[in-house]
Amino acid sequence: MIAEEIKRLHSELPEGVRLCAVSKFHPAEAIRQAYDAGQRIFGESRVQELLAKVDELPSDIQWHFIGHLQTNKVKSLIGKTALIESVDSERLLGLIDRESEKAGVVTRVLMQLHVAKEETKFGFSPEELIAYFTERRFERLNATHLCGVMGMASNTDDTDRVRDDFRIISETRKRILEAAPDLRGFDIVSMGMSGDWHIAVDEGSNLVRIGTAIFGERQY
Ligand SMILES: *Cc1c(COP(=O)(O)O)cnc(C)c1O
Repeated sequence: MIAEEIKRLHSELPEGVRLCAVSKFHPAEAIRQAYDAGQRIFGESRVQELLAKVDELPSDIQWHFIGHLQTNKVKSLIGKTALIESVDSERLLGLIDRESEKAGVVTRVLMQLHVAKEETKFGFSPEELIAYFTERRFERLNATHLCGVMGMASNTDDTDRVRDDFRIISETRKRILEAAPDLRGFDIVSMGMSGDWHIAVDEGSNLVRIGTAIFGERQY
């Protein structure tokens, strides 16, 4: 079933839209089934769980960290991820940069936007993020590559509102590029989950994060 869902999604997703299979709370065995069906990008939201899976699973998996990252866990995560999608404060970003520099690696990250009305309290507002780039504070980074934005839509059946949220995320990336036209590789728009990825892709997502539709319900 997992393999079928992976294959179905790979065939349904338009060219240029990548799939992050969100495997949090699911065992290594489930990830292996998806891996054998051709999936290589997996998303995890807890550091300990990600590190355990890194050790257990094939080394060509690209791990994306998608949860709230506590500052005391940063050091152990550096060097393990292909992308940290959930940078939600400048303080966290500074810490990632320092630890990456110390470790001699460049860490690729996305800036998390907070646009949903309820949901998580984590993330930058569009205005905060645009100010960060207008003021060129990113120039202080030495060992971090800012690769784009990530965000979630409101958790609602109101698809107009979901679409508006996604549009704000997409447009914030464009406004950032207007504010800092010399920014290179700020290309990723990560948005869309099991219930809303069609709308997200419509609004410009090029990286969807899908868990439940692939692996079933999570047992917390
Ligand atoms: C859990 C999670 C997902 C996956 O959600 P599903 O509804 O299971 O597809 C996507 N993005 C983030 C940030 C998550 O925490």
